[in-house]
Amino acid sequence: MLRKINAARILTIMAYVLFLAGIPLGVGVLVQYDYLDGFEGMSNERLNLYESTLLAELKKYEYLPYLIAEAGIVSRMLHGADNAGQVNLFLEEANSIAGSTVVYVLDTNGIVTAASNWRKENSFIGLDLAFRPYFQDAMRGRQGRFYGVGVTAGNPGYYISHPVRSNGKLVGVAVAKIVLSPLEAIWQEGGETLFVTDIHGIIVLASRPEWKYRTLSPLSAPTLKSIHDKLQFPEVKLYPLPIHTATRLGFAKEVTIGKERFLEKSRSIPGMEWTISYLMPQGQLWERTLGISLTTFVILGLGVLTRFFLRERRQRQIARIQAMEADRIRSINKKLEQEVEERKRTEHELRAAQEELVQAGKLAALGEMAAAITHELNQPIAAVKTYVASCRLMLKRDKLADVDTTLVKISELGDRMGTVTGQLKSFARKSTDKKNEFDLRLAIQESLTLMEHQFHTEGCRLELFLTDEPINVVGNRVHMEQVLINLFRNALDALQHTDDALIGVSLRKVKERAKIHVWDNGPGIDASVDKRIFEPFVTTKKEGSGVGLGLSISYKIIKDMNGDFRATNRPDRGAEFFVHIPLARTRKTGEKSDAADYSG
Ligand code: ADP
Repeated sequence: MLRKINAARILTIMAYVLFLAGIPLGVGVLVQYDYLDGFEGMSNERLNLYESTLLAELKKYEYLPYLIAEAGIVSRMLHGADNAGQVNLFLEEANSIAGSTVVYVLDTNGIVTAASNWRKENSFIGLDLAFRPYFQDAMRGRQGRFYGVGVTAGNPGYYISHPVRSNGKLVGVAVAKIVLSPLEAIWQEGGETLFVTDIHGIIVLASRPEWKYRTLSPLSAPTLKSIHDKLQFPEVKLYPLPIHTATRLGFAKEVTIGKERFLEKSRSIPGMEWTISYLMPQGQLWERTLGISLTTFVILGLGVLTRFFLRERRQRQIARIQAMEADRIRSINKKLEQEVEERKRTEHELRAAQEELVQAGKLAALGEMAAAITHELNQPIAAVKTYVASCRLMLKRDKLADVDTTLVKISELGDRMGTVTGQLKSFARKSTDKKNEFDLRLAIQESLTLMEHQFHTEGCRLELFLTDEPINVVGNRVHMEQVLINLFRNALDALQHTDDALIGVSLRKVKERAKIHVWDNGPGIDASVDKRIFEPFVTTKKEGSGVGLGLSISYKIIKDMNGDFRATNRPDRGAEFFVHIPLARTRKTGEKSDAADYSG
């Protein structure tokens, strides 16, 4: 059980940890995805912008070498005319109008014959630039383009060349040099990070000056040699940039340059052998991801804490209610225990009282019986006395035959008295709880005999219906007689003011039960006690003549015999009582029953 609870607890904690860590992580990934997706669009826009400004800048000067090459003054000079001074002025003016850095003309040997910077100390005039690829391209009859560092002042620039023809013959080359550093300055001021690489991966333009002339990868020896031969980047060491490339979320390119991390987007510039790369510091991405993830974590954490707090509070409330409930149940239990104790004591006391009352009831009946017996015996005793006196007279007179007759009468009187005392004996016999099988007819007859005197005194008639064969039940016969005597006495009490007083008794056997029916033609059961007649101490009799226990004791006796006891009023007049008792199971022949004792 304990292990189960621990496992459940651990699982819950794990679920919470997953929830608290997983959702912010998921949100972080979504934020990154959204950001990278946004970067794709945004970097494209930026690349469009920077590419078009660069191209526009170069395009602006594209026509310039052509115009110079077309000028008659230039071709004349290249034909040998002595007009270099004029051409210098022309180039100076053209350069100034066009806004280019410098324009100049080379002869077919690659020697600068005229230049817009002819006035300057480090003028190009006289320089041998035959090694420059733009010269060689133009000499092959096509436009040349080249980016490199100048040989005089070491200023980098973009060179555009055009062949100069005269009568269809190639006589020289016109060149315009454009310095692109103002563009870089604009990028730098804009806070943007971008660079442009040439065909070898050498950074030729960069918003960060320290990246300029660094390579994206180490250059091979032949490449280095060709660059050296063209004097493309003299005095410059072409070191590779410490750059590392990775892919994020499967589509975004991430580069690490030194210790800085960037998202990168590159594209080659159409019509050139250059590639432009736009970079965005990753810091922004991490700041945003971390910010949103942390906010999510804090909100979720607060939610979880609130939930914990509320649950804790609810559990405390439940525990408090349970404790109160337990207290209440404990006190109820205690009360119940006390009540049970009380009931047990009361029951015990009632049992004792009942025992006493049974005994007392019996004694009262005995008292009444004693009076009845005295009455019964007085008359025969007086008769015996009279007969004895008569016998003595008869003996004196020798009337022996008469003496004998009288003695027979005396003997009969003795028998009668014997019967009375016999009945007394049987009633007084100490009742035991031992149950016997007995004949109900005998119990009825016995109790009627005991009540005979009262019936007579009260002038009450008796109607008796008994069966011919015995009706045996199991129980205590003396108790049964007590029930019947109580019924007869109650009926006689009720009949006190009835002229034609009648008590009826019948005994029948219906199915497996003995049915005793006792009725009278008195006033009937009083409505005030009707429903409670079997309860103890319910009486309508005046004080001293009844305590209201007879029927309740009788009821218990019948119940002890597994019987039923009912009381009701008769439709016309009087009360009636029904006692139903299960019959005794038939005994084997030869077995002796209590009934047999009584019949003897
Ligand atoms: P007690 O005889 O001491 O009153 P019982 O329990 O024997 O106690 O009887 C209870 C009451 O039942 C009597 O007081 C009486 O009101 C009523 N009762 C019993 N038998 C009869 C009857 N045959 N007719 C009318 N009332 C009766």
